[in-house]
Amino acid sequence: MVMTEWEKELDELFPETQQWRRYLHQNPEPSFEEYNTRLFIAEKLREFGYEEIEENVGGGGVVAYLNGESDGPTLAFRADFDALRIQEETGLPFASQNPGVMHACGHDGHTAILLSVAKVLMNHQQALSGKVKFIFQHAEEVLPGGGKAMVDAGVLDDVDAVYGLHLRSPFEYGTVSYCSGYAMAAPDFFSIQIQGKSGHAAHPNTTVDAVVVASYVVNQLQSIISRKKDPQESGVLTFSTFKAGDGAHNIIADKALLKGTVRTFNPEVRDMIEEKIKSMAEQICAAHGATCEVSYTRGYPALYNHPKETQLIKELFEQNRTDVNVEATPLRMGGEDFAYFLQKKPGSYFFIHSGNEEKGIVYPHHHPKFDFDERALLTGAKCFVDIVDHYLGNRVSVANVSLEATGE
Ligand SMILES: [Zn+2]
Ligand SMILES: [Zn+2]
Repeated sequence: MVMTEWEKELDELFPETQQWRRYLHQNPEPSFEEYNTRLFIAEKLREFGYEEIEENVGGGGVVAYLNGESDGPTLAFRADFDALRIQEETGLPFASQNPGVMHACGHDGHTAILLSVAKVLMNHQQALSGKVKFIFQHAEEVLPGGGKAMVDAGVLDDVDAVYGLHLRSPFEYGTVSYCSGYAMAAPDFFSIQIQGKSGHAAHPNTTVDAVVVASYVVNQLQSIISRKKDPQESGVLTFSTFKAGDGAHNIIADKALLKGTVRTFNPEVRDMIEEKIKSMAEQICAAHGATCEVSYTRGYPALYNHPKETQLIKELFEQNRTDVNVEATPLRMGGEDFAYFLQKKPGSYFFIHSGNEEKGIVYPHHHPKFDFDERALLTGAKCFVDIVDHYLGNRVSVANVSLEATGE
């Protein structure tokens, strides 16, 4: 059977997959500056025999096609490849050689996984009906991200379905998880600059106390979550910064700066919260004789996993990934720019748990000691080939079902 063959080849390739991951880990480049990383990816793809390679897609992405022997759907996979501005503290033999930059989110792993799939499938064009599109994306970590630019550049125009994955540490290795519907939040950011009037702390009546006004704003804006939002919808509003005064005991502060983040799923709730932050902050300030300037920056949209495609991968993984658990995972408040891909085409984004307590792999993503269990590379690659086999494997009846399943 085709699957066993592909899996066997992925197993054999594993030491090399690990080497690619470690090379990338040792040579991380921050978002929008991944010059050598993209050269490395394109070079590897050429080495595997890929001819149709597009570089600098949407600014810095790399895209390659694999044409099956007969016609069929076009299936896309996306891996991100940027690193973070973090000083690595793992002490790993292949730790970052680029000071202050680290692959602390596992994107080195995502890239190695997709490369291994590209290499193995290149030997099996005759077994495929349709095309596989390999999408390597730059700049996931920093707004505006590379994902939107790649989608705007048309990277999904000829695609029927798109899938992606994220390693997930420190959740213990041995589980693959999925989440149908909204899975990751839209992360937005705001700041409120309040202007009052300074004066002697003993004569507040002659001033407009920015500390007091800002405190009202912090308190009152929580009612957006508790009183304005439908309780059945998720939403978070956090003030993370409150700056006012210069340290004196006897001077009333004339300025206060508030900063925070909003996390939502439903676009209507997102619009409502943005509008209320602005209107309530302005009116609270006006009521107390202060003024304010509100700036609100939208991050990525919420990531929505299409239910049919999510059900499909759940069933495929349950059937084929017998060495791991396949579980539903609750939605999470972090953001991810794969959301733009799923706004454009049906698909799903799933998670390969990659922690290992025994080996000390217990740190979360974006931590200077972040690492992952490299067995997750193989599991991730096998999940991708499960999907390829389903859509493009020359098992006609199954392939037909999958095409219907993409009609979102
Ligand atoms: Zn990250
Ligand atoms: Zn990430």
